[in-house]
Amino acid sequence: MWCIVVHGGAGQWSEREKFSSVEYAILKSLKAGASILESGGSALDAVVNSVMVLEDSGVLNAGLGSYPNLVGEIEMDAGVMDGKSLRAGAVGCIRNVKNPVLAAKLVLEKTDHVLLVGEWASKFAASMGVPVFDFDRSIRLPKYMDLVRKFDEGNTRYKSNLKLYKQYPHLFHETVGAVALDCEGNLASATSTGGLALKLPGRVGDSPLIGAGTYADKNIAVSSTGVGEYIILLGVGIRASIYAENGFTAKEVAEKLVQLLTLKFGENSGGLIALDKNGSIGISYNTPGMARGYFSSEMSEPTVMVP
Ligand code: ASP
Repeated sequence: MWCIVVHGGAGQWSEREKFSSVEYAILKSLKAGASILESGGSALDAVVNSVMVLEDSGVLNAGLGSYPNLVGEIEMDAGVMDGKSLRAGAVGCIRNVKNPVLAAKLVLEKTDHVLLVGEWASKFAASMGVPVFDFDRSIRLPKYMDLVRKFDEGNTRYKSNLKLYKQYPHLFHETVGAVALDCEGNLASATSTGGLALKLPGRVGDSPLIGAGTYADKNIAVSSTGVGEYIILLGVGIRASIYAENGFTAKEVAEKLVQLLTLKFGENSGGLIALDKNGSIGISYNTPGMARGYFSSEMSEPTVMVP
């Protein structure tokens, strides 16, 4: 059996005119992952390829569609983990790279490290042949100004950032992620994001932190979305692994973790997708919506839901 689950972020989905392009991106992403899995490819290759499709779509907050930080620049995070080898790769605050998830996979494959950040992560990616992409600030400026206006409605821009993010869930949706189970029973996870819109420059979220936003082992794979700081503080990925080791299915794990997020940090704090070694799927969130989809060898068509 093979299975793939993808998400396009938990948050508030208000731009209805975007729904069909997001649905299309998720469908294309599921098909990209599925074509690898059905031809006997690895879960790791499947999640990376699925996430690259979402990064390239330009309609989600990752890769070409990444949200700007507080000074209007693009700094992206991505992480991947291979449950079979228990190896991971990640990049934080990477710039001018078309596919941060590919850079993360190269950290896993070509180095002895887990996480590279900043300027040297960008240089590493370029040296490994990851396409360089010069983000055109003029295209992003209207979106940036709109975000600044909405953020300012909360009156404070710097103080109590986390409270504001909860009041304005549109500031953190559209991160992307995928989890997959391959025909050999191996699991993998990948997550990629432009991070919280208007984050402080230099801020790293949960997505590239292995054990927080991204995790996979022999029992379960998870990719989280929402306010990264909360996901880090809860250690969502590691908790998922422990719950799965204790016999909980991916569905139960996702529900338990979102209950815990809500209990500790309130509504609008996040969501996650999870997949276990038996093919149980978990999708949970405490935000108004989460773009998501799944496809498996037992289904004739992929299922896609937006928001
Ligand atoms: N979790 C991401 C971050 O905090 C944001 C998101 O999921 O939209 O960077």
